[in-house]
Amino acid sequence: MDSCIFCKIIKKEIPVPRVYEDGKAIVIRDINPQAPVHLLALPRRHYSGVHEVGPADNKLFGQLFQAVSKVVEQEKLAPQGYRLVVNFGEKAGQTVPHIHVHILSGRPLQWPPG
Ligand code: AMP
Ligand code: ZN
Repeated sequence: MDSCIFCKIIKKEIPVPRVYEDGKAIVIRDINPQAPVHLLALPRRHYSGVHEVGPADNKLFGQLFQAVSKVVEQEKLAPQGYRLVVNFGEKAGQTVPHIHVHILSGRPLQWPPG
């Protein structure tokens, strides 16, 4: 996906420090943090939304959540709690059409989300 900013970050065409990375995913800090800790876990492979990932690639979710798990441990987020969010579509607030898991932590988080 030539025009996708997250693909450009993954390919290092745009230099962004990585909080965590492995063969299948990278984790970066959100440029516009909505909480004291706001990370984004991105699969290296481009899909716009979760529903586009077919059975042939269903390991992607396990691999992505493994990266989330590793970074939660690395950044010691579990004691303070954390929230995972995946937006899809404009109406749900998605602005970058590449699957990403928001990891929010470091403050009390309201429920339900807006
Ligand atoms: P969403 O609105 O769910 O699509 O989330 C996209 C997120 O990517 C937003 O929270 C943005 O602040 C964040 N973002 C956009 N560009 C960058 C960037 N270059 N580096 C880090 N985060 C970014
Ligand atoms: Zn992409």
